[in-house]
Amino acid sequence: SATPVKVAVTGAAGQIGYSLLFRIAAGDLLGPDTPVQLRLLEITPALKALEGVVMELDDCAFPLLDSVEIGDDANTIFDGANLALLVGARPRTKGMERGDLLEANGAIFTAQGKALNDHAADDIRIGVTGNPANTNALIAKTNAPDIPAERFSALTRLDHNRAISQLAAKTGAKVTDITKMTIWGNHSATQYPDIFHAEIAGRNAAEVVDDQAWIADSFIPTVAKRGAAIIEARGASSAASAASATIDAARDWLLGSPEGDWVSMAVSSDGSYGVPEGIISSFPVVTKGGDWEIVQGLEIDEFSRAKIDASVAELVEERDAVTKLGLI
Ligand code: NDP
Repeated sequence: SATPVKVAVTGAAGQIGYSLLFRIAAGDLLGPDTPVQLRLLEITPALKALEGVVMELDDCAFPLLDSVEIGDDANTIFDGANLALLVGARPRTKGMERGDLLEANGAIFTAQGKALNDHAADDIRIGVTGNPANTNALIAKTNAPDIPAERFSALTRLDHNRAISQLAAKTGAKVTDITKMTIWGNHSATQYPDIFHAEIAGRNAAEVVDDQAWIADSFIPTVAKRGAAIIEARGASSAASAASATIDAARDWLLGSPEGDWVSMAVSSDGSYGVPEGIISSFPVVTKGGDWEIVQGLEIDEFSRAKIDASVAELVEERDAVTKLGLI
């Protein structure tokens, strides 16, 4: 039988973890033929809750779940990991300044970057979901000099999926008819969901919509502020959809994006589309076998250029702030 894949998940006792772990164990990430070993990291006070989650994982008797290990030491949990999903992050609490948030998360992602560098398997791939995801990924990448920069990504797949869903609702198309959606920039309110290259059953999506006011004043803010709308409605932040997107992103990265389509992923910029080299910014990418390539040659009009530039400017600011804090 196939060799089990070691999947490390941080923040495993959190809300997103509670949706994510069961789907990974059920085979939704690696497919029905690949056994999984889960390596679950939590902070010490959350270990007891995590033990409860593991009891539930046991009780599912998942055929593909080979083993589960839990702990609060990243060096042990990341040992030999093939895939690390960094979900745990320090949430912004009342009275916390942006700098405090960056600093608190900086400490987490500095330590985790070093631990991955020293202990993960040679084929490690790292996906960051915990916010501020792009900058957390940048910190981890910079603190893992022996791991190729291409192995780090931050999650913009949830934004991508939200954009597809909004476009489908507007046009009456099926989500499966929509291809070539792109999220550019930061996973934040400045992100730019771009439908000018998207297609609906092969036709240009912006032409099908034919309503620039809807794109600018409804579609873009709805996608960008969807997280806040869910908190408002549910009384808690999106968790199942964030977990689902985390799985979609990792699965496509490892197993390949669909033929004739692309996905959005925040990756270390190579300077494409004028995005400064080295920052973790979302692009349209084609993935295959754990590698990605930024889709080249898309025409960027003035409207799109301004939106991309604004989000990238925010990423540059975040990079400068964590540089000042000595985190990278
Ligand atoms: P969640 O599981 O709801 O969220 C975890 C992280 O994912 C947050 O940073 C959250 O950002 C982020 N996130 C990204 N996209 C989304 C989205 N669309 N919707 C919601 N969240 C999103 O948080 P919990 O507080 O329930 O759980 C976090 C767990 O992480 C806790 O159990 C904590 O103990 C743990 N933790 C573990 C660490 C470790 O393993 N070393 C370190 C730090 C924390 P946002 O805050 O912006 O919503």
